[in-house]
Amino acid sequence: MIKSVVSKEYQDLQEEIVELQKQWKLDLDPEAVRPSLEDQEALNAGVPIAALTVIDFKNSLFLQWIEELIVTLERYNPELETKLAGIIGLLDKETAIRWMDEARSFNQSYFASFASTHGIEEWIPQFLAETTLRPYLQLIAERVQGEIHHAVLGAGCPVCAEPERLAVLEEEGKKVIHCPRCLAHWSAKRLECAHCGNEDHKTIKFLTIEGDAVSQIQVCEQCNGYIKIIDTRQYIEKPSAALLDLNSIHLDFVAQENGYTATREEKLLN
Ligand SMILES: [Zn+2]
Ligand SMILES: [Zn+2]
Repeated sequence: MIKSVVSKEYQDLQEEIVELQKQWKLDLDPEAVRPSLEDQEALNAGVPIAALTVIDFKNSLFLQWIEELIVTLERYNPELETKLAGIIGLLDKETAIRWMDEARSFNQSYFASFASTHGIEEWIPQFLAETTLRPYLQLIAERVQGEIHHAVLGAGCPVCAEPERLAVLEEEGKKVIHCPRCLAHWSAKRLECAHCGNEDHKTIKFLTIEGDAVSQIQVCEQCNGYIKIIDTRQYIEKPSAALLDLNSIHLDFVAQENGYTATREEKLLN
């Protein structure tokens, strides 16, 4: 399996977006997000902390970020200029807040219908919303990281609900799951499937990639889920989970080519 499964341009663009998000987060007042961990029942049921957070949303920042993002996208693909023209004009404060809320709850149908109502290519609204939501999610994760010790099985990231797909091995082989979306992290059992909790060594397998000594894909025959595991112990500088996820996209391709997904699949009983 060759390592480069996506174009250099795609990789560069994604890395630039990760860098933008890092900068954008610095624009935010730490008090702009107020997560509440009081509702234990909701948390135990897997409600993500981001859904229990009050966000003071700043429209001027949002518009500035969208503009910067559009400029970046157009630099990589000048054909997008006509497709992205006029979008800023649609984003009054009410719409912008709605975008953030719907992106928080992964509401694809809202964005699809927004796109069709305004004659925009389908991927665009959700992509812009998701990209500009992340600095808020990352700020929430940073605020609550000290309280994050585990995830509720099947609920994804405890902060943002993104399905688990990336873990790193730390000292003594300790497995820590990292969310590439909000950058929260929590420990996990080495052999446990993050999606269904299966710990049976007969149905947990590891796929390795030729020429890539630091990565493995842990797959589960019970739920067909997978998670990438990267041994970063030899790394001199540890990249952020967002970059680690991007740079290991070849593993997602291998996992998915072999029929695994980063979410749990309900197996049909026969
Ligand atoms: Zn997350
Ligand atoms: Zn599983």
